[in-house]
Amino acid sequence: MKALVYKGPGKKALEDCPMPTITNPTDAIVKIIKTTICGTDLHILKGDVSSCIPGRIIGHEGIGVIDEIGSGVTVFKKGDRVLISCVSACSKCEYCRRGMYSHCVNGGWILGNTIDGTQAEYVRIPHADTSLYKILTGVDEEALVMLSDILPTGFECGVLNGKVQPGNTVAIIGAGPIGLSTLLTAQFYSPAEIIMVDLDNNRLEVAKRFGATHTINSSDGKAVENVMKLTNGRGVDTAIEAVGVPATFTMCEDIIAPGGTIANIGVHGVKVDLHLERLWSQNISITTRLVDTVTTPMLLKTVQAKKINPNLLISHHFKFEDIIEAYNTFGQAAETHALKVIIQM
Ligand SMILES: [Zn+2]
Ligand SMILES: [Zn+2]
Repeated sequence: MKALVYKGPGKKALEDCPMPTITNPTDAIVKIIKTTICGTDLHILKGDVSSCIPGRIIGHEGIGVIDEIGSGVTVFKKGDRVLISCVSACSKCEYCRRGMYSHCVNGGWILGNTIDGTQAEYVRIPHADTSLYKILTGVDEEALVMLSDILPTGFECGVLNGKVQPGNTVAIIGAGPIGLSTLLTAQFYSPAEIIMVDLDNNRLEVAKRFGATHTINSSDGKAVENVMKLTNGRGVDTAIEAVGVPATFTMCEDIIAPGGTIANIGVHGVKVDLHLERLWSQNISITTRLVDTVTTPMLLKTVQAKKINPNLLISHHFKFEDIIEAYNTFGQAAETHALKVIIQM
């Protein structure tokens, strides 16, 4: 089968690989129908993710059809159409029992990281019964690809951890696919204001279409000032960091109102400054989280019921044989205006 293989920092190739096989009774082999590229895949290709070694098939999102099941799989059968979660959960370990699937001692984020992933014609999914979701007929399958990772990530790490409430003022720093997923799902809770901050005017335009009440281009260095002006000097109840660099985390510390919550989503590669000399008395909370995908069943229902339309996040389509071109487009988002790219088998 063909698959996209990480070949070491800066290198990747679409090449022939052996078909995956059932190695544990709880495994399923899924034939991929649609997949996509994540910002995390770009980090892997740069060499930033040390757990992912050269030779690995990457990708942790997608939908497919069950091709084969192990003897221990009871929920699915050959031919079922399924949504693949980016997090594999055994459902039995201490962390799974607490709903923290991301820290499953027998799984977690392993797909396209420590085991072969979804940018391939076939993928082996461990703990299939508790890591796959059945797709109902008639649902827009492209929209569902957004449920493998980015929608639960924006919702769990940003909206839930950030305690977004009716009438709240929310700022989301970063209008990439994760920031926009946060923007879409924040609206379940009817915040009064959602301020989107980014460097890219195109992304801010998209954010307006997605429901942002205000947008701020931070390239002039005055984003903090502008947020404070918009909130009458008070700041925001929830500041969500969806970039992963020190400057954007500091911005969250600068705009948080007393009693507020800073919810970090961004993947940070270097340390950030914690300004406790200002924040110690402000009754604020700072949260971190790796997506657990515990809200995937709920999000599936909201997409089926058309309460949200994750299709808005899809900017480009490619055939699987053109996946290298898809990477080029996704990797140069400022020029190509790429958000999420659908890769069709
Ligand atoms: Zn991802
Ligand atoms: Zn577990």
